[in-house]
Amino acid sequence: MNIVYLTTESVPFAKTGGLADVCGTLPSVVAAGGHQCAVIMPAFDSIRRSGMQIEKTNISFAIDMPTDRIVGGRVLKSHLPGGNVPVYFIDQPQYYGRPFLYGDKHGDYRDNAERFIFFCRAAIEVMKRLEKRVDLIQCNDWQTAIVPALIQNGVGGLPVETPTVLSIHNLAYQGSFAADEFPLTGLSWDRFRSESFEFYGGLNFLKTGIVTADHVCTVSPTYAREIKTPMHGCGLDPILRSLGDRVSGIINGIDTEVWSPAKDVHLVRNYDVDTWELGKLENKLALQAELRLPSDPNVPLIGLVGRLADQKGWDLILPVIREHLREGRPTQWAVLGSGDPVIESELRWLAEEHPDQLAAHIGFSDPIAHRIEASSDLFVMPSRYEPCGLNQLYSLRYGTICIVTATGGLADTIVDTNSETIANGTATGFHLRSYDAASLDRAIGDALQLRFHEKDIWKKIVTHAMTRDWSWRKSASQYIELYARTISLKRRGAK
Ligand code: ADP
Repeated sequence: MNIVYLTTESVPFAKTGGLADVCGTLPSVVAAGGHQCAVIMPAFDSIRRSGMQIEKTNISFAIDMPTDRIVGGRVLKSHLPGGNVPVYFIDQPQYYGRPFLYGDKHGDYRDNAERFIFFCRAAIEVMKRLEKRVDLIQCNDWQTAIVPALIQNGVGGLPVETPTVLSIHNLAYQGSFAADEFPLTGLSWDRFRSESFEFYGGLNFLKTGIVTADHVCTVSPTYAREIKTPMHGCGLDPILRSLGDRVSGIINGIDTEVWSPAKDVHLVRNYDVDTWELGKLENKLALQAELRLPSDPNVPLIGLVGRLADQKGWDLILPVIREHLREGRPTQWAVLGSGDPVIESELRWLAEEHPDQLAAHIGFSDPIAHRIEASSDLFVMPSRYEPCGLNQLYSLRYGTICIVTATGGLADTIVDTNSETIANGTATGFHLRSYDAASLDRAIGDALQLRFHEKDIWKKIVTHAMTRDWSWRKSASQYIELYARTISLKRRGAK
């Protein structure tokens, strides 16, 4: 099969979250399975800092944007690490030559509808010029979700029956705009219909993709079920329910070369399932020194890495941290993240007030993320909802036990510790009993009790966590099956 991935993020070229990890790895693993894959993404400024060689191609194009102007673009090319997947970049500096991908401190860029409609139309131009016929397009998230509808309406001239899969990495981000952005698609108003682009009078990219793609795939089986409920459906649950088994979930894998405690270049000491006790201890002492926390092997170190956003459960985490600090409980916290300015400033303030207990690194740092994963005793991730989540998978691999809410991908990957799962050896972490700060604090307490007072049980949990297989191999073969099934259903005309 010849599969093309349309995305705005892909490691190592551009990343704000898990989408980048998926689109930087899945195509290579699918290609290694004997298929041809390509990635098309915008030429954001960050691609020039990726360390990868970027070449010019002779592909250029001009798109008639009904803002009374023709917008030109050219195509640059590189490869995913490993070299088996070409990456084509849509280069249009006015749209993509900005310091951030989607917005700055003032909010989303105002011309995001125009930037990503242009990207979708340009991507179709590029696919038309690829040497081989495209067998299936995988769109990822709202920025690329209108491509199936554009193709079906003849925009750009790819075969209208080209099979498409829409992968949803987070349903909450939908790309909702005023209807007057619609003409940028190049389509006439009679195409602005409720069975495609229109949603409550506006233009909704993600909804357009959901109703027009041949299959909707999300990043864990539990999230695929949850998004059909009013609680997690973000207003799209009735539509998702109507699709029946055209919605499914495949758990993300991780790059086990990059996220490997045995090979990690960011650690002072590498370790594996036989040497984790000493390995984690040395890394903990080094991280305490790096973050200027008191050096103490016996104080529990609790790690957090991720976006400082409501979704990630900060309304539970902050009260628990505050209580630990106020009461001077014997815990240390290592936090890495950026996002909501209110959470950022509270963390900065708490770290200044309690430098012996809390280190807060506000920003994005891959090396520190690796070191927190390796050094912490516990990793806390009480997300309100979590499509898949990657940090809990990294934590498992690094023998760092996770405290999570039983939602989405967290429910699918972390097995709660109780008498039954301890007895049958399947426990890998701790689930909150309910979504509140008291449950989070209780789960942390339960975990620390085992960590420091039931060492044999803890050893069993860590060993089991570290030996679970989260490589892309299994998930990629599920994607390959999905692509083959979607293509064959489309050929038989049974959408
Ligand atoms: P989401 O996509 O919702 O942000 P995921 O857990 O799926 O959450 O993926 C987040 C990815 O981004 C992980 O690879 C995580 O390590 C990384 N990440 C998030 N914030 C930071 C940060 N401040 N520094 C380094 N890596 C980060």
